[in-house]
Amino acid sequence: MSNADIPVVEHFIGGRLAAGRSDRFGDVFDPAEGVVSARVALASAADVDAAVAAARHALPAWAETAPLKRARILFKFKELLDRHHDDLARIITREHGKVFSDARGEVTRGIEVVEFACGAPQLLMGKHSDNIGGGIDNWHLRQPVGVCAGITPFNFPCMVPMWMFPVALACGNTFILKPSERDPSASLLIAELLRESGLPDGVFNVVQGDKVAVDALLAHPDVGALSFVGSTPIAQYIYTEGTKRGKRVQALGGAKNHLVVMPDADLEQAVDALIGAAYGSAGERCMAISVAVAVGHVADALVERLVPRVKALRVGPGADDASEMGPLVTGAHKAKVEGYIADGEAAGAKLLVDGRGLTVDGHAKGFFLGGTLFDDVTPDMKIYREEIFGPVLSIVRVRDLAAAIELVNAHEYGNGVSCFTSDGGVARAFSRQVKIGMVGINVPIPVPMAWQSFGGWKHSLFGDHHAYGEEGVRFYTRYKSVMQRWPDSIAKGAEFTMPVAK
Ligand code: NAD
Repeated sequence: MSNADIPVVEHFIGGRLAAGRSDRFGDVFDPAEGVVSARVALASAADVDAAVAAARHALPAWAETAPLKRARILFKFKELLDRHHDDLARIITREHGKVFSDARGEVTRGIEVVEFACGAPQLLMGKHSDNIGGGIDNWHLRQPVGVCAGITPFNFPCMVPMWMFPVALACGNTFILKPSERDPSASLLIAELLRESGLPDGVFNVVQGDKVAVDALLAHPDVGALSFVGSTPIAQYIYTEGTKRGKRVQALGGAKNHLVVMPDADLEQAVDALIGAAYGSAGERCMAISVAVAVGHVADALVERLVPRVKALRVGPGADDASEMGPLVTGAHKAKVEGYIADGEAAGAKLLVDGRGLTVDGHAKGFFLGGTLFDDVTPDMKIYREEIFGPVLSIVRVRDLAAAIELVNAHEYGNGVSCFTSDGGVARAFSRQVKIGMVGINVPIPVPMAWQSFGGWKHSLFGDHHAYGEEGVRFYTRYKSVMQRWPDSIAKGAEFTMPVAK
């Protein structure tokens, strides 16, 4: 195929598709086939300017639109998402590679945030203090921040944008989404569905692109808030550069999630949980479990059960219903993960199952990697310290619960953690003592529901607010306090003392 025959993924600015003014393009792959399936326009600063101008133009009317009317548009959007659930999932599978049922699950988790945001009138309610003294009432309201931007990672091309914009829009902001350039197409169907829902032009925009687009958003004086989800070095960069310029920033970073298996755990359940959470989506989830912490005598029995299960994983194209695990997103990412496996072996970890060299019939060029399992991993090893973001599970053996908690707490990342146990005291101590943002007890992937909030601790989140739920509403609104009284309650004469309740 020549470049001219390959479809181009464009921007969406001011209510319509826009080719943009840049002559730079990125390759989008079909990871199951290992071929380029599209080219994505990579925005210039001028393209970002155009999107910000559209969002700024649309802002006053949208911010003044009654929350109930904004919610009605989101209700309609939710209906359209239900209708196009499979279409979105197919796009995700085609560009990301994850299996179709998993892609459907991702869309469902996104829709739940839209359902939450439909409660805009209730979410934006302030509190009123009647008669604080001297005939004065005091209340607060939450007003939109303004033009907001979201920069999202490749691993959830639908769900992570939906952690952001439904809440931002419900709160009266306008929005610019900068999706991952590796799987950009879902963003355009989302934009089209929002338009069809009756969202005014310019309220939601998409700029495709890379660092050039991100830097232009960071530098733009009219962008008031930035939400970022991606790797930790970029999260740190966005947080530093954004806050330096006076923007609100929430930047969610990488992860290394542990699942602690206590000796009293139901071992079959713990193994099922580890297999699903380590190898689902080929380990390309920020809440994937990448470390199994085997406590006490449980280790050998755990290994004995895990090895055959990892070997039996059905790896194949995401569109094939029989596949449990699809390919990695790109050839470059696959090579990076393979590099980690080589590193683990060289560092002395015991490679129990090696996923390298796997071929899938009929998909010889696909970016497939089999499930990989290491035992005897120690905290000094690079495969323990760094996020691999692939189908690689490391087993670390520890003495007791205290050692397990110490291990988890010493890690740089603090996104998710899980503990499998049947002891309530252990469960309570564990969830209270771990320095991690999202904790699961006998739940391997404890992603909070849409009306709770999502976020990690330590180097997994930079900023003051977690994503979506009430925290999201706080992030996307400014708090304003109003005090009011009427002239007949005002005494004559200036007052020079600090006002106090009378
Ligand atoms: P990434 O950091 O490479 O990219 C994320 C976004 O940043 C993309 O939109 C990309 O275009 C942009 N970007 C990349 N390099 C940049 C640069 N130098 N300057 C400015 N912008 C840049 O992340 P990824 O590979 O797309 O996604 C995987 C990462 O995301 C993993 O680390 C994963 O843990 C993390 N993640 C975290 C969460 C969370 O909630 N904490 C959720 C999903 C993914």
